[in-house]
Amino acid sequence: MGGEAILAQIADEVRGCTRCALSRRRTLAVPGEGNVRSDVLLVGEGPGAREDATGRPFVGPAGQLLTELLRGIGWEREDVFITNVVKCRPPGNRDPEPEEAAACAGYLERQERALDPAVVVTLGRHSLQRYLPGARIGAVHGQLRRSFSGQHVFPMYHPAAALHQASLRETLFRDMRGLPAALLAAREALGAERVAAVQAEEATAPVVIPGPAADEAEQMTLF
Ligand code: URA
Ligand code: SF4
Repeated sequence: MGGEAILAQIADEVRGCTRCALSRRRTLAVPGEGNVRSDVLLVGEGPGAREDATGRPFVGPAGQLLTELLRGIGWEREDVFITNVVKCRPPGNRDPEPEEAAACAGYLERQERALDPAVVVTLGRHSLQRYLPGARIGAVHGQLRRSFSGQHVFPMYHPAAALHQASLRETLFRDMRGLPAALLAAREALGAERVAAVQAEEATAPVVIPGPAADEAEQMTLF
C-alpha cells in the first residue's frame, strides 16, 4: 500500500473508532487531512466544536488563524498535512486525559510513518509533550529541535491561545516565518544522515575476495 492508501485506511479506522471514552460524545471523528506528499506535518491538540461537526481539523476560529499564519509564508493548508493528538472532541474543549491520548497515539504514529515528514510542527502544549516530553513551550517555541526518536520538531504556540491572548499573535507570526528555514535545515540534516548511513554501510560491508573464474575453477587441483 502507498502512503495515500495507508492514510485513507487509518482515516476509516478513526471514523469508526471506539477505543476511548471520547467516542461516546463525538459527532464526527477528525482523522486529519492535507497533502499526503508534504514534508510538513502539523499536530494540534484535539477537535473543537466546528471540527466535531464537520469531521475536518482546524476549521473553526483557531483554524482560520492557522490558515492566515500559513498564508503569511506563502503556503496553503493543502501544502501541509494537519491532524491532532486526539481525533475526537473532548467535551467542552477540556484537555485530553492521558488515557485518551494514549489510546489514540497509535493512529498518529501510523500517520507519521505513512507521511514520513521532514518536520513536525507541534501546535500547543499537548502536542509538544508528545514529541519533546518535559519541554516548555516558552523556551522552545520557534526553534527546531529533535525528539528522542530523531524527528525534527518545530514547536509553536496553539493558534487558539492567540485568540485569548493578543500578544501571542505576533509571536505566532514570527515563529511561523522561521518554519521554511527550519524545514530546509531539517532536510539538509536528514540528507547528510542518509549519506553517512550509506557510507557507514559501505565501510562495514564484508570485503568480497573474488574467487576463481568458472573455467579456472574447473581446472583447479583440489588434492
Ligand atoms: N484546535 C485543535 O487543537 N485542533 C483542531 O483541529 C482545532 C482546534
Ligand atoms: Fe478512538 Fe482516538 Fe477517538 Fe479515542 S479519540 S475514540 S482513541 S479515535
